Amino acid sequence: MMVVMKEGATAEQVDAVIERVEAVGAQAHLSQGELVTVIGVIGDREHVSNIGLEGAPGVDQLVPILKPYKLASSQLKEGARTVIDIDGRRIGGSHFMTIAGPCTVESREVMLDTARLVRDAGAGLLRGGAYKPRTSPYSFQGLGDAGLRLLADAKEETGLPIVTELMDVRDLEAVLDVADVIQLGARNMQNYTLLTEIGRSGRPVLLKRGLSATLEELLMSAEYVLKEGNPNVMLCERGIRTFETAYRFTLDLMAVPVLKELSHLPVVVDPSHAAGKRDLVLPMSLAAAAAGADGIIVETHPEPEAAICDGAQAVRGQEFADYMRQLEQAAALAGKELSPVA
Ligand code: PEP
Ligand code: MN
Repeated sequence: MMVVMKEGATAEQVDAVIERVEAVGAQAHLSQGELVTVIGVIGDREHVSNIGLEGAPGVDQLVPILKPYKLASSQLKEGARTVIDIDGRRIGGSHFMTIAGPCTVESREVMLDTARLVRDAGAGLLRGGAYKPRTSPYSFQGLGDAGLRLLADAKEETGLPIVTELMDVRDLEAVLDVADVIQLGARNMQNYTLLTEIGRSGRPVLLKRGLSATLEELLMSAEYVLKEGNPNVMLCERGIRTFETAYRFTLDLMAVPVLKELSHLPVVVDPSHAAGKRDLVLPMSLAAAAAGADGIIVETHPEPEAAICDGAQAVRGQEFADYMRQLEQAAALAGKELSPVA
């Protein structure tokens, strides 16, 4: 349920509502708009419906949230959008963000070269996996802690904030030392323990859609993070399983406008893992931006033929600046500007 406060309700009135909510064992999530304050009340249905806030001082109305995801629902923010700020770089609303880098952290040289080239081309964040979810246990599994250290070096050298995947809750502290954004991979979208711990950490999270997850399931996973008091969730469409085998996954671009209708959270698209092939990455990136995505996460590599993993889908380093120019134009079609670096 949402408690919508009257315009001009005082801080004391808001505090009194929160106190009442917490007294019945429910959680109060405050969202302060420019004019109106809304308090999301999450908890046991019976307690919430008998909370007795009708007519309380400063309360305008009580509105039920009909979706099973409450804090992720666009209803909670009444049309306002979540904008996430990562070291002065913004994503959401009118701000478009490009996250770029290699699939996996390979070596100091490749990481630093890639970091410089994506920064110079205007990307806002640097990606790279130190812990890799690989289909085969015999494939390269990532450099682990050593990879995290290389990411930290790349950040120090270029100033780019880091997006990197967390697969195991035992690595949470190590990842928190380096990651400005924790990536929760498609295969872990419904790992509820991990979602809860990331929620408690408060660190921004890029939540990738599971290979066969519905949008509602994705939003329910986001809800796990939000429920712990972490509002910084980006939803990521990265392709889903269908009967089509001509490419790696089917990029579900309809998810972009639909997620943005259902939720106030920023929506990012990963064209790389859906495509599997370099030539498809640019057109699908442009389509995603034109469809209103708030950002793109894309794999790029200075020398894709030599990449340890996913080289076939990596945008060539020498083509990356041109890729960014075109992406910026497509984002502008949807009324968005590349997030300027603060
Ligand atoms: C990745 O981005 O490195 C990755 C493994 O993606 P996904 O979880 O979407 O497969
Ligand atoms: Mn990859």
